[in-house]
Amino acid sequence: MKRKPSTLLCHDINDSSLYHGAVVPPIFQNSLFTFNDWDAIDNAFNNREHNFIYSRGRNPTVQLVEEKLAQLACGERAQLFPSGMAAITAACLHFLKPTAHIIAIKNMYGPANNLLVNYLSKKMQIETTFVSGCDIHDFEEAIQSNTALIYLESPSSAIFSLQDIKAVTCLAKEHGIKTIIDNTWATPLYQKPLSLGVDLEVHSCSKYLGGHSDIVGGVIIGKDSDISSIFHNEYELLGAKTAPIEAWLLLRSLRTLTLRLQKHQKSGLQIAQFLESHNNVVKVNYPGLSTFDQHELAKRQMFGFSGLMSFKLNTDDINTVKHFVNQLKIFKIGVSWGGHESLIYVPAISYLKEMTDSQFKNMGISLGDIRISVGLEDPEDLIVDLKEALDCISK
Ligand SMILES: *Cc1c(COP(=O)(O)O)cnc(C)c1O
Repeated sequence: MKRKPSTLLCHDINDSSLYHGAVVPPIFQNSLFTFNDWDAIDNAFNNREHNFIYSRGRNPTVQLVEEKLAQLACGERAQLFPSGMAAITAACLHFLKPTAHIIAIKNMYGPANNLLVNYLSKKMQIETTFVSGCDIHDFEEAIQSNTALIYLESPSSAIFSLQDIKAVTCLAKEHGIKTIIDNTWATPLYQKPLSLGVDLEVHSCSKYLGGHSDIVGGVIIGKDSDISSIFHNEYELLGAKTAPIEAWLLLRSLRTLTLRLQKHQKSGLQIAQFLESHNNVVKVNYPGLSTFDQHELAKRQMFGFSGLMSFKLNTDDINTVKHFVNQLKIFKIGVSWGGHESLIYVPAISYLKEMTDSQFKNMGISLGDIRISVGLEDPEDLIVDLKEALDCISK
């Protein structure tokens, strides 16, 4: 019987004769595995991909998480990575050759943008055309004879704009182009891009999948043939080994993923609606809001919404923005998101050190754009915290 996500994620071991009936599997914190005789290790090497020989390759704790994530995403197979960026880089390298061309969305995650613009372009003469991605014609017009990859992130970073995933994968298939999507915002629970024709789905596990702000990890999910090649090449050769303890913590986190996301979603919507109603906020970017430009598309291709959003204050005066941020008591100032704790971050803090003013503007954001990750605290407390700080702006 195919199990529903919360049932799948709650159980780790189906055979209670294993590990003395321990309800939580042990951490296989070992670098190597030994064999009884020559033939046993010889046979293991005939199929390195599916045998435990050395933990830079396969490890049982890591494999348990991979199997769970693959099932959750309706994919054939998953490969864990030590970070989301390691997964993104591996997925891109898998599909690319020197002098290829990429189409990517302009609001993609900053370091992934750096990979394309500052690394792949210089090392492999790979050019990227950036599009807004809101209209399928953006992609159509950007296709060149050497386009090898369309890179999506839906919802995107900073402004949470969407791409019509099904439309993009149909277009890509017509032209023999591969597709990758960064699905971190929605998680494999609330969006199933592989079912919409995407070749590889990547995640940072450091966000909702981890959920407790105590691990950094990543994953690629897709077809067995793609993941097999990634395992032998980008995973093993680049030595991107996932630590068993991190995999074990991720397994712990996945047991409560459905519950946590329900709460993030519920509080997220309440807070988005509050922000929208406040006089000192001019715009709220949250795909779950009925007033969000692409809300209809969001409902069509997602099964739920998370708690990450951004909003624009009615000022671009840096001192006022600073004052607002410093007034907050429950929201902590910090990068990353998707954990139990509510966080606030102003992209301008790091973006303006990494890019020119015009590049910054081109991303569709301004100084007064503020990102919040709504955590698992009581939403009423969070609203009071935001209200007090927002009311200060008018004074
Ligand atoms: C954080 C993040 C990443 C990178 O993940 P790490 O685990 O920090 O390497 C990739 N994509 C998105 C959308 C992110 O927010």
